[in-house]
Amino acid sequence: MVARTVPVPPFDLVVFGATGDLARRKLIPALYRRLRAGQMPTDARIVGAARSALDDEGFRAQAAEALEEFVPAAEREQNTVDAFLATLSYVAVDAMSDSGWSELRAVLEARTGGDRVRAFYLSVAPRFFAPIAARIAGSGIGGSEGRVVIEKPLGHDLASARELNDELSKHFPECRVYRIDHYLGKETVQNLMALRFANALFEPVWNAQHVDHVQITVAESVGVAGRGGYYDQNGAMRDMVQNHLLQLLCLIAMEPPSQFGPDDVRDEKLKVLRALSMPDIRSEVVRGQYRAANGTASYVDDAGNPDSTTECFVAMKTGIANWRWAGVPFYLRTGKRLRARISEIAVVFKAVPHWIFSGQGGGDAHQNVLAIRVQPDEGITLGMTIKEPGPGGMRLLDADLDMTFAERLGPSISIPDAYERLVMDVIRGDQTLFMRGDEVEAAWAWIDPIIAAWEERGARPSLYDPGSSGPEDALMLMHRDGRRWREIAS
Ligand code: NAD
Repeated sequence: MVARTVPVPPFDLVVFGATGDLARRKLIPALYRRLRAGQMPTDARIVGAARSALDDEGFRAQAAEALEEFVPAAEREQNTVDAFLATLSYVAVDAMSDSGWSELRAVLEARTGGDRVRAFYLSVAPRFFAPIAARIAGSGIGGSEGRVVIEKPLGHDLASARELNDELSKHFPECRVYRIDHYLGKETVQNLMALRFANALFEPVWNAQHVDHVQITVAESVGVAGRGGYYDQNGAMRDMVQNHLLQLLCLIAMEPPSQFGPDDVRDEKLKVLRALSMPDIRSEVVRGQYRAANGTASYVDDAGNPDSTTECFVAMKTGIANWRWAGVPFYLRTGKRLRARISEIAVVFKAVPHWIFSGQGGGDAHQNVLAIRVQPDEGITLGMTIKEPGPGGMRLLDADLDMTFAERLGPSISIPDAYERLVMDVIRGDQTLFMRGDEVEAAWAWIDPIIAAWEERGARPSLYDPGSSGPEDALMLMHRDGRRWREIAS
């Protein structure tokens, strides 16, 4: 079968907040790379919109700087950079007043032509999402097909998430709202779906009969310095678990959809979220904060709040109440200033039912582990038990079948950044890798009672050493069940 890329139609992409951090670090480099890959239609146009008083040239100069900073020199041929910059223009627009909207409309209307896709990327603070959506609709530039793109935080709790969904739905039907969770744009995460649904091997063992447990780790080595004030309002549960970790869990646990269509996939993810069991707050959830050590600041120092009880680490045990997963623990763990930056899902299978090698130097029964590494070094490994070569009995050892993509597929395969895939999916009108409003609400409906119970108890987070694997209680969470976390190692 010949694989083919779905073509991208001509488009106008308006980036609100085009002078901000997300636009500079991610969106502009992602769009440049798509043009360089030949995927950008020649008449594609990108309109920067933000409050700063810039003209087209000023914005292009900023974009050129962003490319220099965030795209390696080897990927920056001058003619490609020039071609990209020529697609850019800029309009100064204020989200909260009428200023700039008629100019933006004029820029967009100057480029009519058949069925151009129009998309609005709201790369701005969440408080602007609803006002900008209203003005896009009110000024008529959204048309009947315009799409709007937003990213976390999508609410602070269930009530605020509902309010945001309600506000957006006044102006954009659900089929035109693209809620990004950039983890879903990562190659390995999509590969997880290929692995499960394009291979006959795993589905028969993908259930409580064969899976011992699942571990999902999203560890960061950096602290919150620089954005501590913002972070302290949220914490790891809201900032990471509500979106990235639960999305990964959904892809591992969902039933096979009948087809790979947006609502088919999202319906199945929603069922997982609704079947999540509530952990015991006292014994199955651990919250942590890093302490000061060797001249590095503590979490509370970084947050600028000595009394902070916000968690920058959380580890928990949950489960999924359905036939496939009944009794299988799902352990989730995420935190700042841990030993390494790594995101990984590990499906740990049960050991064989009867072990015949103990008298042969084979030690205890081993467990197969399917590890899906989301970052860095995207890839998949399958831990197998094999015989150590040589005479002298059945000495067994663990060895990985390793599909680190960069090694397996060769250096010519470059793994695109998640935003490259996601922005092009918006233009193509493919919502499969975007969260639907009811998914976001279902995730908050599970998170809210956990946070409420913490607040009621008023317990302080456990402290952990920077560069460690988190608080001792998190290790105990697994040890008590006779299991252990996989190492956080790069
Ligand atoms: P930022 O503060 O760096 O940039 C904000 C942008 O909004 C600027 O271009 C600014 O000019 C514009 N802006 C501010 N007030 C405006 C107004 N009244 N009218 C029009 N434009 C206005 O923010 P950021 O870090 O780029 O984040 C943007 C959004 O993306 C936020 O919702 C953030 O939570 C989310 N996000 C950011 C990152 C990241 O890596 N930076 C990652 C995930 C999600």
